Amino acid sequence: MSIVQTIAALEAELAGTAARLVVVTKTHPVERLREAYAAGARLFGENRVQEMAAKQPVLPADVEWHQIGQLQTNKVKYLAAFVHTVQSVDSLRLLQELDKQAAKHQRVINGLLQFHIAQEETKTGLTLLEAEEILQSPAYQQLRHVRLTGVMGIATYTPDEAVVRAEFRQLRQYFEHLKAGYFADQPQFKELSMGMSADYALAVAEGSTLIRVGSAIFGSRT
Ligand SMILES: *Cc1c(COP(=O)(O)O)cnc(C)c1O
Repeated sequence: MSIVQTIAALEAELAGTAARLVVVTKTHPVERLREAYAAGARLFGENRVQEMAAKQPVLPADVEWHQIGQLQTNKVKYLAAFVHTVQSVDSLRLLQELDKQAAKHQRVINGLLQFHIAQEETKTGLTLLEAEEILQSPAYQQLRHVRLTGVMGIATYTPDEAVVRAEFRQLRQYFEHLKAGYFADQPQFKELSMGMSADYALAVAEGSTLIRVGSAIFGSRT
């Protein structure tokens, strides 16, 4: 199937669910991003700051750029002018830097708290305790140019669906716990970013609002 056909098929699968598609465009040249755009995709995810910063001016202005990979604070300045959502918020320090750089551009950047849900040691992210420490800190409460809009997580890469499903459920419970405890009066805290090419169907069944799909659309990355 072509990029356009695959995106159309995915959108048809998502119709009637809570989930929207973030097309993960990392490593792919801008021509392929243009094809995805022509197919109606508007949410694009990249994991390298330089790559996103190079592609952004070339694509139409209504693309929502999502940073999905770990973000070093010294690189925030390269995406602060345009990034819509940083899905990989893993520290108070990063939130503070996002706030500082977004203020320079008089804008607000959305953030998702990234949780560690996988069994693999290598997958980064916060624990619930760490997230609550951030949310309770006076420093967080002073931020005006960054706003948290939900949570994100990466499940274990395994064919064992029970494992993946349990991890997505765990993430959903974190989301609901934080929503009730810290964001009850803030409707913008609504995103549950979970699900990739291999496991998005399970994620959608578990209530995902953002699936991040790359290789199922573009083929494997070389
Ligand atoms: C690369 C990446 C994806 C997309 O992975 P695919 O398996 O190609 O769909 C999703 N989320 C994150 C955080 C990624 O780094």
